[in-house]
Amino acid sequence: MDKMLRPASLKQAMSLRRSTAALPVMFRSATPAYTEGSLLDLSGCEEFSRMDTDGVLLHIGAGVTASELLRDKRVPELLRAAAEQCPADKRDRASLGGALCARNALTVAALSALDTRVTVASETGRRTMKLRRFLRGNLSVAKDELLCEILVPDRRGGSGVCERCGEDMAFSGFVRWEHRRISELRLAFCGPEGEPIRFVEFEAELIGATVKDAKLLRDPLLAAYERYLPDWEAQRRTTLLLQLGSFLLDNNI
Ligand SMILES: Cc1cc2nc3c(=O)[nH]c(=O)nc-3n(C[C@H](O)[C@H](O)[C@H](O)COP(=O)(O)OP(=O)(O)OC[C@H]3O[C@@H](n4cnc5c(N)ncnc54)[C@H](O)[C@@H]3O)c2cc1C
Repeated sequence: MDKMLRPASLKQAMSLRRSTAALPVMFRSATPAYTEGSLLDLSGCEEFSRMDTDGVLLHIGAGVTASELLRDKRVPELLRAAAEQCPADKRDRASLGGALCARNALTVAALSALDTRVTVASETGRRTMKLRRFLRGNLSVAKDELLCEILVPDRRGGSGVCERCGEDMAFSGFVRWEHRRISELRLAFCGPEGEPIRFVEFEAELIGATVKDAKLLRDPLLAAYERYLPDWEAQRRTTLLLQLGSFLLDNNI
């Protein structure tokens, strides 16, 4: 049987993280039933289940569950659309932080399209970084750090989708029209290794476009994605491009 360490606060958790080699877990739904060595069970630390806004960003604790995301109207629709796809019997014990660390494709794609940043913390301080940086290599979490918060823009409205492609890839898109012009456009993919892919320079071309401009820019945009998406397996690459095309059409682009 694994040894389970159960800190009651973030402070205790960080101290145990520094002084032991225990693997941090939240609800263990994405962790093998048997793991060698001890586990650091974070589910008893209240700080991880908080959700607060500073008026610009919504700070979502790493332990907030898919059910809680679905219940809270401050959570952007796009992220709720991802949480809706978590199987119902798993939602109460599936944390957003765990999904991110496990590179759940829908979570990676939705958070990437939301321009998410994340905060990790240790006893010596906190670091906030872009999602892409966090997901680089074997995750940007040092041996003494824990993922604490996921920061998403605290703005509602706009239109978004989050669609799976097989088990391990996904497409997510978000667009906001204001005064008949596109004011925000973000298109993100999650590749088979859980890697987020975005081309912000392509998105920038459409910012400020009217419906008429957007329709003219649609084909060049799709062609650019076709050229620059990584060399993923052909059929799934085509499916992702079709998902992108439908999203654009559904949103007057
Ligand atoms: C938005 C959303 C959509 C989802 N969609 C689906 C779906 O479509 N299908 C499906 O089957 N499941 C889905 N899930 C569930 C998901 O795939 C994971 O199983 C679940 O979220 C993992 O949560 P957990 O708390 O059990 O993580 P755990 O199993 O406890 O941890 C997972 C990994 O994260 C690490 N970890 C966890 N917390 C921290 C921390 N604070 N700091 C550092 N490392 C940490 C652990 O070491 C482990 O490697 C979804 C979940 C969410 C939130």
